[in-house]
Formats: sequence, structure tokens, C-alpha cells
Amino acid sequence: MRTRTRKEAVYKGIRVSPGIFIGKVTIIARPSVTVSTRKLRSDKAVEEEIQKFMAARDMFVKDLERGITTLPESILTVVQSQISILKDPNLEREVIAIIREERRPAEYAVNKVLQKLSRQLQRSESDYMRERAEEIKRMASDFVLRIQNSGHLQGHKVILRNRAIVTDDLSVQETLRSIRAGAKAFAFSAGGKTSHAGIIIRNYHLPAVFALGDEFISSVSTGDRVIVDGYTGVVIVHPKKATLLRYKGLRERYKLQEKKLLELKDKPAMTSDQVRLTLLANIDVPDELDLVKNYGAQGIGLFRTEYLFESYKLDEAIQTRIYRKVARQVYPGPLVIRLFDLGADKVFGREMKHPALGMRGIRVLLKDEKLLRTQIRAIIKANQQGNVKLMIPMVSLLEEVEAVKEILKQEYRQLKSNPVNKALQLPELGIMIETPSAALMSDILADHVNFFSIGTNDLTQYVLAVARGDAELAHMYNHLHPAVLRSIKWVCDNAHRKNVWVGVCGELASDPLGVPLLIGMRVDELSVAPGALLTTKNIINSVPYEEAKELVNKVMKLSTVDEVRDAVTSFLKKYVEEIVLEGGAYHEDKA
Ligand code: PEP
Ligand code: MG
Repeated sequence: MRTRTRKEAVYKGIRVSPGIFIGKVTIIARPSVTVSTRKLRSDKAVEEEIQKFMAARDMFVKDLERGITTLPESILTVVQSQISILKDPNLEREVIAIIREERRPAEYAVNKVLQKLSRQLQRSESDYMRERAEEIKRMASDFVLRIQNSGHLQGHKVILRNRAIVTDDLSVQETLRSIRAGAKAFAFSAGGKTSHAGIIIRNYHLPAVFALGDEFISSVSTGDRVIVDGYTGVVIVHPKKATLLRYKGLRERYKLQEKKLLELKDKPAMTSDQVRLTLLANIDVPDELDLVKNYGAQGIGLFRTEYLFESYKLDEAIQTRIYRKVARQVYPGPLVIRLFDLGADKVFGREMKHPALGMRGIRVLLKDEKLLRTQIRAIIKANQQGNVKLMIPMVSLLEEVEAVKEILKQEYRQLKSNPVNKALQLPELGIMIETPSAALMSDILADHVNFFSIGTNDLTQYVLAVARGDAELAHMYNHLHPAVLRSIKWVCDNAHRKNVWVGVCGELASDPLGVPLLIGMRVDELSVAPGALLTTKNIINSVPYEEAKELVNKVMKLSTVDEVRDAVTSFLKKYVEEIVLEGGAYHEDKA
């Protein structure tokens, strides 16, 4: 028997998909790609290279199209966007021009064109665009390999069944192939939460941790044992016996707790003293709907639509089809569709001088009315049953609300003038409260809208003047800061005075420490990450509203995040038996 000499090592990455995997790894090494730059000596050779390019491209498209009908909608969108890059006539034109004019082989031309595209996206401020850039780089190397192998991509001849896949990152195709071959977890040295691989893995409910770093990859070999903890974003290589035992226990505990929490699925969200709340879910892509349904959400409080921007921003028909389908699936529950929130941390496609404080959200849309009107028409057309609501992101001026309202009315009138649209209803109009301006003016804004949804993620960054994604200032970015909580309380009080529905869709609503405070402020609705639905309901159902109100009064007098955290933690300990945090805060404390 082999004696274990290697030491246990713990690597921290980002949580991409929850769950715990204990087992062996398979390393997928990316084949190194060498691109030939040789000069083509004859016209015949030039024509042959053009044929090679076309054949490899067609094969690539065919492979991507294979089995496409069985894919969930969101993954379909991903695959289709790759297909449309490959089929783009500009790509063909540019590649052929390089082969002809520079007299270089197909692999050189393809690589040059795709790398250029990737570099353009790489310069973007947005993580989402940079992740797309990485994907295009991978497409480039896959394309080169196909040209070198007469159109084929060599499969990985490695064991994938029941393994955790360790690699730098995977393409859409590789991810799907690994899952179909039985992979059970993913640990990547690179990759991001909104990468397509991440979306797919979440859809299949497999644990995943990304961005573990290069040191992680070099510490592990195929066949080694690892623990992938998708709850806390940790991967443990060569775990000690004690660690293994602890994680086996944790895995069981999570299973039990999940079972217990699942009993809450169909119960109403109601405090122990009978105050009802509406509990909704936030989704980034429609494939999360299954999760949402499993966990008993009453509807969707925030449908982020940015994923549609790249491929379908001006495609009214596809947008309508997608919104309609989601609306039908959540009916009779509400579906709050947020207009494209472009800029800052999200997809945009161009570089910004001042990402968070410049062109963002509604500011972009009002400058590009075609984009805005297309989306508004699709949203109206989806409102066949009356459960669709439209939400404006990043509002900071009343004029922005008035402008959207006017466009909404115009488009609605125009659509209704066609008898085929007789059944359509005007969607309710709401705004995100996520800028200090909107929060401070909420008493006035309340007169112009049907609902508020407080976006605590952005509100925190703007109130505290700390960028959301700034690693150096991460310790300062906290939605439990008294300044943020006071802003939220001010908005809730104004909403109540004006009889306007107020919900919270920022992460504070998914944070167990935020929930009692929001209950105490008497919000009407919490809209949370799908994975946080049951833990949130557990807290709502366990605490008395009257006591939560007292807690808020107390917290409003506190000065620091630590004081708030202590006050809420002792409150929770009094009323909630055990809390499983998807984010793993309690679990991390114990680990
Ligand atoms: C928010 O800002 O709190 C919010 C929900 O919007 P997003 O996270 O999409 O910016
Ligand atoms: Mg926001």
C-alpha cells in the first residue's frame, strides 16, 4: 500500500455551484497549440488552406449543433452565440483575406482573427466580457486543433466518471462533454462565476469552485483525492483523515438540513406572529427556474436580462419568446423583468472611463432608444396573463422614470392598436432603488411608480463609495453598514407612507443577517438567490415581526458593521434553531 506523504493543502477560490464532492480528480490538460506561420508558396496551396478552413469551420459548427435540441434554454443561447461567431461572414472574409493576402496557412489566419476579437473584449472593464474573451481564446485553440486534425477535435482519453475535473477552465463543449461522461465536480484554476461553464455546471447541480490559482493545479495529479466544497469555495487537496471525516459529516448534515428545509417549500413565508411576506427569487438565466420551483418561490422578483444583450439585444421576437415562456412558467406568481443594466460590472461591449459612475443602466438605454423600445415591446408582448412587471435599473432622476413611462405607454398603445394584441396588459412599472439619489428622493419617486425594489449591492457601493468588485477594499464593502441600513429604512418608511410596494432584491435579502432587519423594516417582499430561498423562509417563519421591529430600532442607533453583526447574530440565535448559509458564513466559522 502506498503511504501518504503529501500534506493536506487548502485552496480558496470562488463559489460557483453549491455541494460537496469527496473523491478523485482527473486533470484535463489543454493540448499545447502551435500555430504554423509558414509562407504558402503556390496559389494551389492558398486554395487548399481556404478549403481546410471551411471544412474545419463546418465540422466545428456541426459538433456544436449536435444534441442542441436537448439543451436547456440558457445553454442553448450560449451554444448559439458560439455558432454565430463561427458562421459570421466577417470572420470568413477576414480569414480568407489573410490566407490570400499574407499567404499564410488557415490555422494562422483563424488564430489571428479570433485572438484579435478576444483582445478587444479583454480590454473591457466588465468581468462578463472578459470571460467571453477567454472563451473566444479557447475557441481559437480548438479551431486550430481542428484544422490540424482534419476538422476533428481529439477527445480527452481520460476517466471522467465520478471524478472532479481539474483544469484551468473549460469551453462550453468540453463542459457538456465532461458532464455527459459522468464528471461529478469541477475545480478550475481560472474561470469566473458568470462563465458559460459555470452556468452549465450550476444547471446540472454539480459542486464547483473556480479561480483557485496556478499553485492549486500544480499541487494535484490525476487520481489524487480532493474535497470540493462548493458552499464555501474551498478545495482541499490530499485531505487528512480527520478532514475527510469532518466533510463526510458536513455532507450528511447539509443533506439532512436540506431535507428539513425542503419541508418548508410549500409553506407560506410568514413570521411567527403571522405577518406575511412575499418571497421571490432572482434569476440571471431562465434555466435557474427549475431550482426556483424546487425551492417553492412565489415568483421572480428580479430577472436580470443582460445575458440576452450580446446576441439578442435587438431581437424582439426572441426576447418576447423567452420572457413569455418564463412568465407562463411562474404564473400566477409575478415576473419582474429588469431592463438591460449595462455598464459597470455588467456586459456592455465598450470600455468606460467611469464604469460605475458613468453610462450605466437606464442612462445607456435612454441614449439608445432602439434598444430600449425593443426590450419594452418584448416585455409588453410577454404580459398576456398580467403577471409581468417592468423594472428600471440605476434610476437617479425622476426624469428617467418619466421618460420610460412615456415610452412604455406609447409602445403599449401602438401594440394594442393591432387586434391580435387584444389580450395584452400594461405591465406594472417599478424602479430599482440602488443610488443614494433614488433612496433620498424615494418619497417623491413613490408617486410615479407601482413598486420599489431595493438593490442593496449597488446601494452599498454608492453609499459607502466603495466599488463592488474592488479586492483591496473588500473589507469596507458591507451591506450591514449602518449608513446602508439607514438608507433602506428611509426608503421603506417612504414607501409605506405612500402605499407603494417595497421589495429588496440585493444580496442583503439573501444574507441571514439581513433578513431579520428587513422583516423589522416591514418590507413587502424579499427576492433572493435561488439557493437562499429556503434558508430565508426558515428565518422569516421563525422570527416574530414585533421583535424584529425592536431589533431595527436598536440597530438604527449603532455605529459600526461589527455592532450590527453582533446584534443580529444574538437575535437570530434566540429564534432560529440552525442556519445553513449558502454563503457558508456559519459553516466557515466552524470549519
Ligand atoms: C443590486 O444592485 O442590488 C442588484 C440587485 O442589482 P445587480 O446586482 O444586478 O446590480
Ligand atoms: Mg444593481
